Amino acid sequence: MPADTSLAAIDQKHLLHPLHHPSAYASTRTWVSGRGAVITDDAGREYIDGLAGLWCVNIGHGRTELAQAAFDQMSRLAYHSSYAGSANRPSIALAEKLSTLASPSINTFFFTSGGAEATETSFKTARFYWKAVGRPDKVKFISRRRGYHGVTLAAMSATGLSPYWPMFEPRVPGFVHIDAPDPYRFVPAQDDVTVGVAAANLLEEAIQREGADTVAGFIAEPVQGAGGVIVPPTDYFARIREICDRYDVLFIADEVITGFGRTGRWFGLEHYGVEPDIVQFAKGITSGYVPLGGIGVSSRVREALDSVPPSKRWMHAYTYSGHPTCAAVALKNIEILETEQLVGRAESSGRRLAHRLSELEGLDHVGHVRSLGLIGAVEVVADKKTKALHAPEAGLTQKLTDALLDHGLYTRVAMDCICLAPPLMIEDHLLDRMVEIVGDTIPAVLRAL
Ligand code: PMP
Repeated sequence: MPADTSLAAIDQKHLLHPLHHPSAYASTRTWVSGRGAVITDDAGREYIDGLAGLWCVNIGHGRTELAQAAFDQMSRLAYHSSYAGSANRPSIALAEKLSTLASPSINTFFFTSGGAEATETSFKTARFYWKAVGRPDKVKFISRRRGYHGVTLAAMSATGLSPYWPMFEPRVPGFVHIDAPDPYRFVPAQDDVTVGVAAANLLEEAIQREGADTVAGFIAEPVQGAGGVIVPPTDYFARIREICDRYDVLFIADEVITGFGRTGRWFGLEHYGVEPDIVQFAKGITSGYVPLGGIGVSSRVREALDSVPPSKRWMHAYTYSGHPTCAAVALKNIEILETEQLVGRAESSGRRLAHRLSELEGLDHVGHVRSLGLIGAVEVVADKKTKALHAPEAGLTQKLTDALLDHGLYTRVAMDCICLAPPLMIEDHLLDRMVEIVGDTIPAVLRAL
């Protein structure tokens, strides 16, 4: 028999995909181009990109200005080390630019290639900080269930989605999880506190249980993305900040999804009126055109980094830190976000999204809808009264994903939540169509279950 030379066969034979399983090859679509909020597969079929790739293509597809920025920088200087004592212009300019966009106390930046390494850098920096200020036993990290922080071992251990763990265990010791501040499912133990405060108080309980002298940091996404888009109540992070201050715990904001306009603000935490000690970012900083991530640290963390003798320096080596091409593309991306006022657009389109989503609330099996700016979700349940999910054997995730694709919408279904995070420039009619497809697909899929 002649060898199968189709792209699908070659893919299956040679390429290992994230979340690999052979069963996924049957439904593979190969993406070949994109423009704005629309992507096209190799059969020429167009889809609304309801997830901005993977929560990253904030300015939309097909922006040749970014290609030009990469071309110009590669033509000038391909690469050189950024180890201390060696620098390049785009990464200096990018760090300076970020200091104007991040919280006032965050003015120093380190660059990685993606989000997981940003998480890893945050953890190492938090441990470094406590050692530098003479409290070396503060090494543990607390995070939330349904939080996602990346694939590396420490990031995976902080991740609060258990399906990511079992085949890679043991997890890194010293990682502790508390419940997510999910307004739909969280039930406060007492009547006299709000969901936000009760969910934040779990952090205090965990710190007390572990011993404040052993806890280095608390990591949280302002809006939990991969866990099904959980938007915390408005009073949650103020109480979190209070607890972190009280027990000397660094607050790490994982803004990998929520950064660069996604929620209608430059950073998601701005909605909650508090500042983190460390902020981490990736994805939207380049709109996914090239890989780039990193962290920003507050003045107090920066002072600790500067305070140690050379023999105890921050030994965090990284080949691609401050890669000039990635920094040049990020600068151009940020320029476009600014000149086209896409952060404000995410806010106004976000209001439209919230309104459209609210129209789905009455549908059978729609348990909850939520959004903040242009990140939202529709949670599908088996029983609206009990909020029970469908049994995993029903295969709802795959069925919904496939049916949405068949209707022309690309997105991701996480824990029976249909996640929506289109490019920030999405036109109103496509945004409306996106929600309409979700509204048509849910009843159709559930009828056929
Ligand atoms: N943190 C968050 C909040 C994320 O959503 C992700 C990726 N989805 C990561 C970290 C990891 O980023 P990366 O895949 O670029 O390593």
